[in-house]
Amino acid sequence: MPDVSRDRQTDAPANSPLAAYTTLRLGGEPGTLTVAAETDQAVTTLRNASAEGRPVLVLAGGSNVVIGDAGFAGEVLLLRARGIEVVGQQAGTITVRVAAGEVWDDFVEYAVTNGWSGLEFLSGIPGSAGATPIQNVGAYGSEVADTIVAVHAYDREQDTVRAMSAAECAFAYRSSVFKYSDRYLVLHVDFRLAVADESAPIRYAELARSLGTEAGDRVSLRQARDTVLKLRAGKGMVLDPDDRDTWSVGSFFTNPVVTAARWASLGLEQAPHWPGQDGSVKLPAAWLIEHAGFPKGFAGDGVSISTKHTLALTNRGDGTTTALLDLARTIRDGVLEKFGIELHPEPVLINCEL
Ligand SMILES: Cc1cc2nc3c(=O)[nH]c(=O)nc-3n(C[C@H](O)[C@H](O)[C@H](O)COP(=O)(O)OP(=O)(O)OC[C@H]3O[C@@H](n4cnc5c(N)ncnc54)[C@H](O)[C@@H]3O)c2cc1C
Repeated sequence: MPDVSRDRQTDAPANSPLAAYTTLRLGGEPGTLTVAAETDQAVTTLRNASAEGRPVLVLAGGSNVVIGDAGFAGEVLLLRARGIEVVGQQAGTITVRVAAGEVWDDFVEYAVTNGWSGLEFLSGIPGSAGATPIQNVGAYGSEVADTIVAVHAYDREQDTVRAMSAAECAFAYRSSVFKYSDRYLVLHVDFRLAVADESAPIRYAELARSLGTEAGDRVSLRQARDTVLKLRAGKGMVLDPDDRDTWSVGSFFTNPVVTAARWASLGLEQAPHWPGQDGSVKLPAAWLIEHAGFPKGFAGDGVSISTKHTLALTNRGDGTTTALLDLARTIRDGVLEKFGIELHPEPVLINCEL
């Protein structure tokens, strides 16, 4: 089994506050913290916690959580199980099983290097492979639901490990059966990828423009990955410890979707929008935020909107979760007042609320 692990999800000294494990660098003390390097150990930790009635927080890369300043008074399970294994080969495709604690972008790089197509547009997304099904991570016209064929999870309710089909995972826009639920611990994820040197068809206009191609065209896997990484870096969407615009959870709000009737009543025809197949319309939260009076760099107390991307709320170094959520509330309320549209947070909020 190849080892593509690089120790990017650095583990902090014992007794560190949870801020040490989140990309926002926010969050108070854990009750107890267990680092699980093996899936068996992770399952045992959850089983014991359930038996003793202790609450559990599963944490991997910490790039999609906002943890309260008071921390989490339960068991924090830090998932670090690694491994990539080819488990099936069919005509022109390959099925690859990835352990939950594998660094997602290391796996994408590995796929590109091996000539496995389907993940290249998801380059540069922080965090672990096991967390990708949780909110069906997506970017540049692609999402993991396009390639996931099974999720192997420990079901705490049934006390058993089972393989869940993509249909059972109920993938939707930034959502799945796993999000906001502590029933399942994802242990491995199976991806079916095309064996091809070319990318999947390009679906995202900005990406096509940057590549000098048209939507629907394909480019080399390497070209697709490099271009996505460059675009993301320009928006502060690739982790860089020296760049506080990346001390975030990526997009703080999801793009709101409104019904056809609601859309007609909004009078926002001039705004950028994406019509859905059922008549609903998705609006870019970043546009709404900017047009409600919150520009890039708009600051709170030690926190601010990123100077590179309106959707990212960032810790400037001396922020707190309280200040971050105050800023988020100000933005959410301002958008509601101006457009009558409610924004919803994309990350999982732990021991805090908006
Ligand atoms: C700079 C930046 C850019 C980003 N860009 C994108 C983007 O383009 N698209 C996108 O979709 N997201 C993006 N994100 C959000 C984030 O990277 C993804 O959601 C990522 O998949 C989270 O992985 P993680 O390992 O850090 O999860 P964590 O933050 O550790 O956990 C997130 C949630 O998943 C749960 N969880 C994690 N692992 C497991 C598991 N094995 N089993 C069960 N539950 C689990 C946790 O309990 C928690 O509820 C971005 C974040 C940052 C900081």
